[in-house]
Amino acid sequence: MTAPRILPANDREAIALAADALRAGDLVAFPTETVYGLGADAGDPRAVAKVYAAKGRPSFNPLISHFADTASAQAHGAFGDAAMRLADAFWPGPLTLVVSRNQASNISDLACAGLETVALRVPKGADAHALLAAFGGPVVAPSANRSGYVSATTAQHVAGDLGEAVAIVLDGGPTGIGIESTIVDCSGERARILRSGAITREQVREVLGELLSDDDAHDGEIAAPGMMASHYAPSVPVRLDARSILAGEAAILFGGTEPSGLENAAHVANLSTSGDLIEAAANLFTVLRDLDAAGARAIAVAPIPQTGLGEAINDRLRRAAAPRDSGS
Ligand code: AMP
Ligand code: MG
Repeated sequence: MTAPRILPANDREAIALAADALRAGDLVAFPTETVYGLGADAGDPRAVAKVYAAKGRPSFNPLISHFADTASAQAHGAFGDAAMRLADAFWPGPLTLVVSRNQASNISDLACAGLETVALRVPKGADAHALLAAFGGPVVAPSANRSGYVSATTAQHVAGDLGEAVAIVLDGGPTGIGIESTIVDCSGERARILRSGAITREQVREVLGELLSDDDAHDGEIAAPGMMASHYAPSVPVRLDARSILAGEAAILFGGTEPSGLENAAHVANLSTSGDLIEAAANLFTVLRDLDAAGARAIAVAPIPQTGLGEAINDRLRRAAAPRDSGS
């Protein structure tokens, strides 16, 4: 295995190589005005799965997609009055907008963790801009550190922390203050602040006035977005650790082992015939959606190992299988 290549962020050739690496589905860390981001092609679910694997996150948080300019970002979501005003006022800058995802958007289901909304940002700073412009599509970029470690503010931190999982680290020197972007949800009737950050509530209020809701104020309330009620869950029951398939069930398999009774299945999908957990993560949300739409009476899921990304996959499946209330 190879260590990441650390290349100067202000070098044209390095930017071109980094954009190529993103196109190839590899990870590229780059400096933003907040901290170093761990970048991947948001439209490539395998690349997005590598981000979760590299960070060692035990569950799938939705990720923020980054763009070179406002027009490119706007193509991916429905921008109402509030979102338009905020984009005009603060982009490029440390503000993330959550909006309804456009049908035409290529941002993967995995990047959105199955939500119907997308989180979009146009970061400030020449290095990030150069990479995003050269790549030309949405780039997810959570902080470039292993889950639970401090955010990386130098290229050397990134390389030391994430090692060979990253193909290229663009070195733009130490990043600034390291405060995260403020996240404003503009997908509902009134805008809500989901995460406080570099842009203050007062600044948002000044731009939105009455369009900003007051009933949000609790910091960290959305700390676990996987728990949000709007999170995608199949409409039919989900049965885990299925070693046999019942008549009329849709079957989700993993690897080469066939459960008994498979001939009774209404539909069969395999998350990864070779037993590759990254491939399985990449396919998970789309397979759940497709089987749900196919109209089976229930979904039975074969056992999936609890190692590596398996932990996040099983976490998501347990949520899909849990009884849910029909509340907001
Ligand atoms: P980061 O780790 O900086 O990429 O930030 C990811 C955070 O953005 C998540 O943990 C969520 O809090 C938030 N987020 C991303 N997408 C969405 C979404 N569609 N709806 C609500 N919050 C989101
Ligand atoms: Mg972080």
